[in-house]
Amino acid sequence: MTTIADQLHHVQAQIAAAAAQAGRPPAAVRLLAVSKTFSAAAVREAALAGQRDFGENYLQEGVEKIAALRAMADIAPLTWHCIGPIQSNKTRLVAEHFDWAHTIDRLKIAQRLSDQRPAHLPPLQVCLQVNVDGGATKAGCTPAEAAELAQAIARLPRLQLRGVMSIPDPQPDAAAMLAVHRQVVAVFDALHRLPGLDGLDTVSLGMTADMDSAIAAGSTLVRVGSGIFGARDYSGRA
Ligand SMILES: *Cc1c(COP(=O)(O)O)cnc(C)c1O
Repeated sequence: MTTIADQLHHVQAQIAAAAAQAGRPPAAVRLLAVSKTFSAAAVREAALAGQRDFGENYLQEGVEKIAALRAMADIAPLTWHCIGPIQSNKTRLVAEHFDWAHTIDRLKIAQRLSDQRPAHLPPLQVCLQVNVDGGATKAGCTPAEAAELAQAIARLPRLQLRGVMSIPDPQPDAAAMLAVHRQVVAVFDALHRLPGLDGLDTVSLGMTADMDSAIAAGSTLVRVGSGIFGARDYSGRA
């Protein structure tokens, strides 16, 4: 039987190989283990194998898992990333429990997160979600909106803007996928050149199926779920 630890090591090796192929050091790409729908026990197994960063999409489920892991005396503190959509009535959960939020695409949500971030916690680390390949109904700001939004977010006192995040749709072939990934990195590069944004260091891009191409394009953080934990079962979810 393949264990979570085995699959984690396999993904780490895949990241190192993709980075080497792109002439980048393996440490340039951070692995975020996406644990949505999986149990606290599964997270524990990955944590015991050395994984530190975990991503959750569903806020209530995430908050419960964060509390469960925090209560385990033998697990070192983990870093929790919110990678799901954030409605304005849910910002408080994110501000109070998570370390990162990747899906900021409106100033109103950023403002609420900054206002609600508790004083005893460090600033919430955030990414601007950009939509480079979808229509108006897809989450994320357009590349044209990114500069103004990023500058406004960077001025909020209790947030630290780290970079961009994107969830491109699958493409028919590798060349098309790489082209879309490069568009995301181009948005990051343009932001990075703006006054005050030269500290940005994160391109949150690539999942189990497209991580090699994302790393080739310049991703610094891949979000991998099924590649580590196996297929997800959504049947218990309304
Ligand atoms: C579920 C999810 C992932 C992980 O997807 P896999 O295909 O299981 O690797 C990554 N990013 C986001 C935003 C997700 O919702």
